[in-house]
Amino acid sequence: MTVSEIRQKYIDFFKARGHAVIPGVPLVPENDPTTLFVSSGMQPLLPYFLGAPHPKGTRVVNSQLSFRAGDIEEIGDNRHTTTFEMLGNWSFGDYFKREQITWLHEFLTAELKIPSDRLWVSCFEGDASLGLARDTESAEIWKSLGIREAHITFYPAKKNWWSRSGTPDLMPAGEPGGTDTEVFYDFESEHDSAFGPECHPNCDCGRFMEIGNSVFMEFQKQADGTFARLPSRNVDFGGGLERLAAATLHTPDVFRIDTLWRTVAALQARTGAAYDNALLTRSFRIVADHIRGAVFMIGDGVMPSNTEQGYILRRLIRRAIEHVDRISAQTVSLIDLVDTVIEPYADVYPRIAEKRDQICTTVKEEETRFRRTLKDGMKEFEKGTDPFILFTTYGFPIEMTEELALERGRSIDKEAFKQKMAEHQSLSRRGAEQKFKGGLADSGEVTTMLHTATHLMLAGLRTYLGDHVHQAGSNITAERSRFDFTHTEKVPRDILDKVEAYVNEAIRKGAAVRITQMPKEEAKASGVEGSFWEKYPDVVNVYEIRADDGTVYSRELCGGPHVETTTAIRGTFRIEKEEASSAGVRRVRAVLS
Ligand code: ATP
Ligand code: MG
Repeated sequence: MTVSEIRQKYIDFFKARGHAVIPGVPLVPENDPTTLFVSSGMQPLLPYFLGAPHPKGTRVVNSQLSFRAGDIEEIGDNRHTTTFEMLGNWSFGDYFKREQITWLHEFLTAELKIPSDRLWVSCFEGDASLGLARDTESAEIWKSLGIREAHITFYPAKKNWWSRSGTPDLMPAGEPGGTDTEVFYDFESEHDSAFGPECHPNCDCGRFMEIGNSVFMEFQKQADGTFARLPSRNVDFGGGLERLAAATLHTPDVFRIDTLWRTVAALQARTGAAYDNALLTRSFRIVADHIRGAVFMIGDGVMPSNTEQGYILRRLIRRAIEHVDRISAQTVSLIDLVDTVIEPYADVYPRIAEKRDQICTTVKEEETRFRRTLKDGMKEFEKGTDPFILFTTYGFPIEMTEELALERGRSIDKEAFKQKMAEHQSLSRRGAEQKFKGGLADSGEVTTMLHTATHLMLAGLRTYLGDHVHQAGSNITAERSRFDFTHTEKVPRDILDKVEAYVNEAIRKGAAVRITQMPKEEAKASGVEGSFWEKYPDVVNVYEIRADDGTVYSRELCGGPHVETTTAIRGTFRIEKEEASSAGVRRVRAVLS
């Protein structure tokens, strides 16, 4: 089955069972400085597991593009890709184990036609010391669906427990968590004893591939270390679309599925080299995976750079170039592979098709830049030149140098590299400071206060400067709010004073911050302020700040967090600085003091 067919079948299947279809979010998360990329379907939904009502109800389904930088080193094996789609269905306090396991089994066997006997499952074995019972309930449900007892294995919390902080012992008081049950596809290949004496579903020998995981969030850790039932129980399912496609083809190699194979096939055609050549398979996989990741990343607005998301993109492109050169001595340009990624996804991810030209230009520029120094850099590397010089002069990402060294049985001093990098970056601190990171630095008390005050400030700026003013970016920490907005000229001090007064008046009145949900079109039509409308679902959360006397100070599209009333905001709001940010964009720095 093709990737598109499976995605559609999955969405339709859960839609027919009362689930609202919600759009996936872009790869770069908004308002979440703790992580560079969205790496699972549940990540952007976390607020709804922590109690916020989802505007689409208690059952939702989607396919979320995910990126796992932590898996970059795994690329080259049969089942990991940095970028993949995670099929997800969720219950927010609605259905639980029985429905989830039954539906999943039905989807896999009736819709995808995977023989039930090919499936193995794992369940939580329990932990008496923590008072957590063995998950016999899930096991019994699997059994009732025809999964043989021999195919049901129990593992400890390290494998079959989910919480944000890991195993139950690591969870702080108040944290929710629960058991999970994973499904594996059995390729029935011979066990490779290099991976351990006996084969089992979590063994890495290649016989089994994890295709999906159902998390049952039902406990909350208590202050005394025990676990109490949550009043409302949730289900979070995540299944790898690429891996499901591989299972339907009965191939343990995810690169053989229709989407990824297009890139592999194009690369074979251009180089004359064979994917099956055992010496080259890994390089083929790295190139196919990395160009795909790069295309999606650029499509979501990332540009190559030496920091954060941009650096990961740079690593993908540069490593792909280094590996494409291993496949063929004749230079193959990565540009030639871009369309093999865009075409199969153009209908579901139109944004990459729309940005094709920009994607090609970005890849090409980065490739040209790197190829200028690659050959000389390789010579320097062979001579044993310092990795720091390889990075700064020849553009070798440290991880690439490390990989090259490892392959030659050499090691590099990563600590020394980090030390030199730190010294180098303070040299150019201004550059780092000018870099503009979006969103809230944390969701602490003071940052939250400043976030609400920033909404008021935007409303004030629009009141005194005009409706052309919109947010162009924001970065809020416990110290200050840095806010970019669309406006061409310098804002005079007397206007800034008026804006300050507007904010402080709302604070003094103890205005209430209320969330209302409404259809996106209605919100737009009624004058709710917002940037990036296209990123929001059909039903949106509108934050309204209204005083008891009826004055509405702000109505803005947002995902929170905010104070409940402005009485919670301590201090006086002050705009300390106003300056140009980029063409047509001004920047202010504001504080509560
Ligand atoms: P693995 O142990 O195989 O790396 P995981 O435990 O990290 O998987 P989860 O975090 O449970 O996986 O993610 C849910 C599902 O997403 C998995 O069951 C798998 O099907 C898929 N998945 C996870 N990581 C990848 C990846 N790097 N490439 C492709 N699919 C993946
Ligand atoms: Mg993993």
